[in-house]
Amino acid sequence: MESPLPRGLDPKETPKHVMVPMYARIRRVAVEERMAKLAAYGETELPYNSMEIKDPSVGFISSGVSYLYTREVFPQYSFLKLGMVWPLPRKMIAEFFKTVKKVVGVEELDPFLETEIRAMGYRVWHGKDLIPAIGELSPVIIEQSLKKAVEGRRYQAPKMRIRPEDLPKRPPNLCAGCSHRPLFYALKKLGLFVFGDIGCYALAVAPPLSAMHASTCMGAGVGGAYGAGKALGKEGLGKICAVLGDSTFLHGGIGPLMDAVYNKGYSTTIILDNRITAMTGQQEHPGTGYTIQGEPASTVDFEQLARAVGVQRVRKVDPYRVKETMEVIREEVSRDEASVIITENSPCMLVRRAKPLEKFKNPSYGVDTDKCRGCKVCLEINCPAISWQEGEGQTKDSHKRKGTVFINKDQCVGCEVCVQICKSDAIVANS
Ligand code: SF4
Ligand code: SF4
Repeated sequence: MESPLPRGLDPKETPKHVMVPMYARIRRVAVEERMAKLAAYGETELPYNSMEIKDPSVGFISSGVSYLYTREVFPQYSFLKLGMVWPLPRKMIAEFFKTVKKVVGVEELDPFLETEIRAMGYRVWHGKDLIPAIGELSPVIIEQSLKKAVEGRRYQAPKMRIRPEDLPKRPPNLCAGCSHRPLFYALKKLGLFVFGDIGCYALAVAPPLSAMHASTCMGAGVGGAYGAGKALGKEGLGKICAVLGDSTFLHGGIGPLMDAVYNKGYSTTIILDNRITAMTGQQEHPGTGYTIQGEPASTVDFEQLARAVGVQRVRKVDPYRVKETMEVIREEVSRDEASVIITENSPCMLVRRAKPLEKFKNPSYGVDTDKCRGCKVCLEINCPAISWQEGEGQTKDSHKRKGTVFINKDQCVGCEVCVQICKSDAIVANS
């Protein structure tokens, strides 16, 4: 009888898709057969594994971008270029060792090729003994590492017109007006140990905010704060919290939050709801109300979701109101029960449909130099629109200063976070 299921859903193929031990043993045979076929293909037919024999005194075994860099630096020598690094083409490698005199393995990070080739019994002349195992390679690093060994000459650095250290420093930063900035400023002022997560807000780890202290993987911040509470007992009350974004919470935060409630933890989880998956490219998620294709869809209610896993205390804050936000966080982290704080009205600056600028009453702010005391407090929020200008002077009421801040009106979006922080009322709306 013909199967009533659509094409592609064949119950006869179940042994291929359910890896209980009785089927896994059978599939293992198939895996081994497939690997043997793949190895044979890599030896003979695969055009991306190739030997390029020129000067045979030195031969490089490499792949990917490391091959391209090495080829650029040492074009006159021989190469075994591997387009597929597993399974390795053993016969090709044997042939290469017969053809060239000395073999150098060039690869980024761990010595994978080098170790495997040594394990086959070959003598690799150089590899990770000269090439750094940390960071990405570049033609310059390859030349610096190998020039002396391969050509017997020292590496000569080319003359640079501009030294990298003289270039303006532009570390990555949260956007001007980003709602994460006041939230992390509040956490910093409260002196909390923050278990963070994966998202734009990980930028809060950098000075001057310096308000994230651990971040492992998606959802780990929630579990980390809960676990720290368990380990510290009452001593940790009022000192720790977890912070993660809306999409990260949906992806990996619900399970650990449920555990925190179920196991009677007391951690506070702050969900930064900016209505988008911001860092990875503005993708919609089940909490935004749109599918990834932009069609209207159901919307997860974060408060209901938190209550559904047992959280009794769910608070909402407008992170742009710094004082009120600090109060709510202070209250919740001090309680001996799991709680959730959700930021609201705080969409990502880049989500046009959410009209993030509409809530700000003035389009931009500037500095009243009659009042600015040069205390640098407003620089603590690390807004890219605010910079420091050296220059001795004084305020209208004769307070001496060593400089003032400057707000770039083209970058400022009028979020008023700096306005709330300045104790001298020196930040004023541009007319
Ligand atoms: S604007 Fe205000 S906070 Fe910023 S440096 Fe001047 S006085 Fe200090
Ligand atoms: S109001 Fe202040 S904190 Fe907000 S964007 Fe403008 S300069 Fe930055």
